[in-house]
Amino acid sequence: MLYRAGVTLDVMRRDGHTAFRNGLHGDGWLEKGEVTRDPARLDTLAATQAGQIARAFPGATLVVGASQCGAVLAAFVARHLGLPVAFLNVEGEGAFFHRMHVPEPGERVVLAEDLICTCQDARVLVRSLRERGHEVLGLSAWAVRDGAALPEVPVTTLAAHPYRTFAAEACRLCAGGEGLAWGGVRE
Ligand SMILES: [Zn+2]
Repeated sequence: MLYRAGVTLDVMRRDGHTAFRNGLHGDGWLEKGEVTRDPARLDTLAATQAGQIARAFPGATLVVGASQCGAVLAAFVARHLGLPVAFLNVEGEGAFFHRMHVPEPGERVVLAEDLICTCQDARVLVRSLRERGHEVLGLSAWAVRDGAALPEVPVTTLAAHPYRTFAAEACRLCAGGEGLAWGGVRE
C-alpha cells in the first residue's frame, strides 16, 4: 500500500528551485492537481489513507476536510471508512462548518488533508474543532514539509516529503546563484 502511495506521490514531483507564495523557498514542490484532477487516482490514495486512519485512529466518528480540495479528499476517505464527513471553511484565524453538515458537539474527529506546507490552516482547524466541543484524534496527510509547525495531535503521513524547505534568506539555492525554476507556488 505504501509503495502504491509512493508511486502516486512521484507523479506530483516538480523538481527545481521554488519560491512559494508564503515566502518560503524549496528545492521542488508537489503538484497535487496531478492526483486531485483524476478521481480514480485520488481514490487510490484516499483508500490508502483510510487504511492508515483505521489503524492509527480507531473509534473515529467523523472525517473532516478543509474546503475546497480538502473537502473532496475527505469525502473519498470517509467513504472508505464508512463514516460521515463534514467540511470546514477556513477564514483567517477561524473556521466554520459548511451548513451541509454542522455536527453536534462530541464527535471523535480525524482531519484528512493532502499536502501540508506550513500547517497554519491545520492548527486553525484543530483549534476550531476543539472550541466546538469535538475531540481531535489526529491528522492524516499525504506528506508534510520539513519545518511545518504541526498542531499538537498525532499525525500520520503516507510518505516522507521528497523536498527540502528553506527560509528565503537562508536558501542554499539562492546562495549558490541558482535562478528560480518555479515561482508563486502554493503547494
Ligand atoms: Zn531560493
